[in-house]
Amino acid sequence: MKTDILRELKEELKEEEVAFWRLKRYYPPLASMKEKEIMSYLHLYERKELVAYVKRLLVVEEGQKAKRTQKGCCCLDAMGIPKNLYLDRSDALRVREMLEKEQGIALKIYTCPREQGWHLSKV
Ligand SMILES: [Zn+2]
Repeated sequence: MKTDILRELKEELKEEEVAFWRLKRYYPPLASMKEKEIMSYLHLYERKELVAYVKRLLVVEEGQKAKRTQKGCCCLDAMGIPKNLYLDRSDALRVREMLEKEQGIALKIYTCPREQGWHLSKV
């Protein structure tokens, strides 16, 4: 029980770290800012809010990228965020490799039950 809580906490911290990192990469002007400065810049109060903020940002970014070449489906992830549909399995493989390296998580590829394409999901 205790180890579960610790693990959860560790995952949360890791997620927050990744969120800051990705945000800085996305908005280079933030790269030289301290975490606190970024938070106040974005009018956020909790680190958790930042994680959600970055997730939304990435969904928009990925969505714009996807729109150019792909048609989406209406599958949602556990947080209710639309999933990316990869029309090409090699795209899914490439993104999986990147995310696994970046976030230290294991992902699996599966076929979309609604449209022709693939999704990624945490194992
Ligand atoms: Zn789908």
